[in-house]
Amino acid sequence: MSKTTYWLGVDLGGTKMLAALFTGKFKLLVERKEKTSGQDGAKAVIARLQQLIADTVAEAGIPEKQLGGIGLGVPGPVNVQTGAVISAPNLGWHNLPLQKILERSCHSPVRVFNDVDAGTYGEFRFGTGEQARCVIGLFPGTGIGGGCVYDGKIFTGRENSCFEIGHMLAVPEGRLCGCGRHGCLEAHASRLAIAADSAAAAYRGQAPALLKLAGTDLRELKSRTLAKSIAAGDRAIEDIVRRAARQLGVAAASIVNLIAPDIIVLGGGLVEALEKLYLEEVRAAVMSHAMPLLADRVKIRAAQLGDHASVLGAAALVAEARGKP
Ligand SMILES: [Zn+2]
Repeated sequence: MSKTTYWLGVDLGGTKMLAALFTGKFKLLVERKEKTSGQDGAKAVIARLQQLIADTVAEAGIPEKQLGGIGLGVPGPVNVQTGAVISAPNLGWHNLPLQKILERSCHSPVRVFNDVDAGTYGEFRFGTGEQARCVIGLFPGTGIGGGCVYDGKIFTGRENSCFEIGHMLAVPEGRLCGCGRHGCLEAHASRLAIAADSAAAAYRGQAPALLKLAGTDLRELKSRTLAKSIAAGDRAIEDIVRRAARQLGVAAASIVNLIAPDIIVLGGGLVEALEKLYLEEVRAAVMSHAMPLLADRVKIRAAQLGDHASVLGAAALVAEARGKP
């Protein structure tokens, strides 16, 4: 019998969960997706997650004892010592001991990470972050996620995950953020903020292409719709997105001044749909707002792994935690 150890990575999002089983060399064997809905309550989501994990392992047909561990990325801050989810607003979770619950039911070692930390680690190991001392991940989406891998390790507090770039102050006395404070970067530059401004512009008659494509319904204003509207000549939408990308770039410049990363990786749906615009604006903002000595050294790149960054990162992180990097 082969002694290969396999690793399972799971990305638990607010709307879907993705599980992927990897070989010891992190080649993808099987992946499965399932819907998530926070409104169903924690019990139902965890039951679905347990089923997804079991189904993925069963589909791969590997003996349970050859599963070396399960790594999860979750959308919110985590206690890095206990693997408890401190809060996951999109799932309605608060202080949920996820690692303990899953270890009891899955009979495998489990580690829980913040999803953006896992994604940044995935890009560092398998994507664009080759041989870097410090990689920063910036993922604008519904909110704005940030992660940092420093000397090969996720940068965290003693107890809690950190690098909450989305909640850096961008505009004093600015818009109300989901966290309850005002003026956070994600209240001004996330996809949700862009969609709100774009809907207003469409309503005012400043974005005829967008109005035709999606109306003024915020839920219809997805990244690709925004990209199509810009391609069709909606100048107002381009201005809104460029402004948000610049604000992200100003935050990136502060991070460059603080810890001099080798690489800043930009990822997520908005960046995938509007890569050129995002890279241009973030590069320009870093060049004008970071110290020249430090700005000159940092590479700004688009993420390479798409949806697989977090599952790969979480699988590699649990492997490393088990002493099998
Ligand atoms: Zn905030």
